[in-house]
Formats: sequence, structure tokens, C-alpha cells
Amino acid sequence: MKNVNKSYGDNHVIKGVDLKVEDNEVVVLIGPSGAGKSTVLRMMNGLETTTSGEIYVDGQDIAHAGKNIDAIRENIGMVFQHFNLFPNMSVLDNVTLAPIELGKKSKAEAQEEARTFLEVVGLTDKADAMPASLSGGQKQRVAIARALAMHPDIMLFDEPTSALDPEMVGDVLGVMRRLAKQGMTMVIVTHEMGFAKEVADRVVFFGDGKILEAGTPTEIFDHPQHPRLQTFLKQVL
Ligand code: ATP
Ligand code: MG
Repeated sequence: MKNVNKSYGDNHVIKGVDLKVEDNEVVVLIGPSGAGKSTVLRMMNGLETTTSGEIYVDGQDIAHAGKNIDAIRENIGMVFQHFNLFPNMSVLDNVTLAPIELGKKSKAEAQEEARTFLEVVGLTDKADAMPASLSGGQKQRVAIARALAMHPDIMLFDEPTSALDPEMVGDVLGVMRRLAKQGMTMVIVTHEMGFAKEVADRVVFFGDGKILEAGTPTEIFDHPQHPRLQTFLKQVL
């Protein structure tokens, strides 16, 4: 992202953000409510328009991609706080829908591969279950498997564990930790500071629409410089 700005009407919410995410890097975005974390994440895959600035994904400017945006988006997996599974479809059908609809795979191929992604998220036995019969943590892991089924180059997560009961959080973070170890490029908004400390290559602190500080987990959590970051960490740790 190069000098990216976003306004909603008169409300200037993203103010000159510069952010580079390297291949295989895990970047965690932290910051207080309303700081702009979700907006930045949504801009990264063109779910939000930019008011000014440039956003490149694999060298392609998604802020001005026009109708190419769909092709670029296929390489970007997104997982939200609320899982957005299709309620009237089985787990397997949820995971295979996009690759089949987009003609990436035959039904048989997609189903075979979906079972391996369900294994990755620890849900092989739930292939035929309906979403309503799953726990929140299981639904979120299906959502991750569904995103992986498109073979994304990058995965974006917006507070994937915030809506979960505490006992479900560990399973979902465990899946994300494994993806990170396998070298998946990830940008993650989370309030799970322990996870950020352990898994992030880089932590980026947002405040009032700007990046106020960025660094390694050690720099951010053990040696915070910006007063706003120091205050934020006192509140959340
Ligand atoms: P949280 O931790 O609460 O999720 P956040 O850091 O993700 O917060 P954003 O959701 O990105 O914050 O919001 C940044 C700012 O943009 C806020 O002031 C918010 O009110 C504003 N905003 C976000 N979405 C919209 C929208 N669709 N219309 C108008 N204003 C919006
Ligand atoms: Mg948010």
C-alpha cells in the first residue's frame, strides 16, 4: 500500500498508510477500535475502494483494477469474524463451491481436495455435516478450509476468533499457526496478543487511521515507543 487514503464522506478514516507485506510474511495488525484495521484489510482485496493511493498485489494495482479485480481476488483468501458459511449446504459443498463454480476443478477433484483441506483444519469427520450443527470454532475452521480451496497466495483474517467461545479460540489459532509455519503469507487483525507475539514476523500498530508504529513482536510488545501504543498495550495485556 502506497500512501493510501480513504474517506467516508467527510470522515477521513485512513490517512496515508504505507505498508508492504512480503511473500511468506505474517503481519499482524493491532490497534484500538475504529483505528482502521478492518478498512485497511478490506482495501487489500478490493472490498473497499480507496480514495487515493495505490495498492499492489503481486504487482497489480487493485485500487484501479476495474474488471480484473475478480481474478486478483481469487488469489486472496479472506476469513471474517462471522464465518458467512452457506447455511443450506454441507461442509463439503461449502468448501468446493468456489473452485467448481469458477471452473477451477471438476466436482470430483474439488471434493477430493476439499477433504485434504478439511484434514488441515481437523474436520475430516464433518464433511457431510450442515453448518448449523457445528460449533463456532468448527464453522470458522470450515471458513478457513473454504478459503484455502482457492489456493490463495495470501490470506487475510479479520478478528477470526473474536466471536468464538474461549474454548474454541485455540483450535482456530492452531490452524492459523500451522498455515504460518507452512509459509502462507498472512495479514491478520487480532486482539490475541499472545498469538501475535508468537506467530507474527511483524506487528503493525494502527491509531486514528495511521500506522503509528511497526516492528518485530519483541520491539512492539517489549519495547513500545509510541505513547499510544504503550497505553494500548497496558489496556489489552
Ligand atoms: P474494530 O477494532 O472496532 O473492528 P477497526 O480498527 O477495524 O475497529 P474500522 O472498522 O476499519 O476500524 O473503522 C475505521 C473508521 O472508519 C471508523 O471510524 C468507522 O466508523 C469508519 N467506517 C468503517 N466502515 C464505514 C462505513 N461503511 N461507512 C462509514 N464509516 C465507516
Ligand atoms: Mg475491525
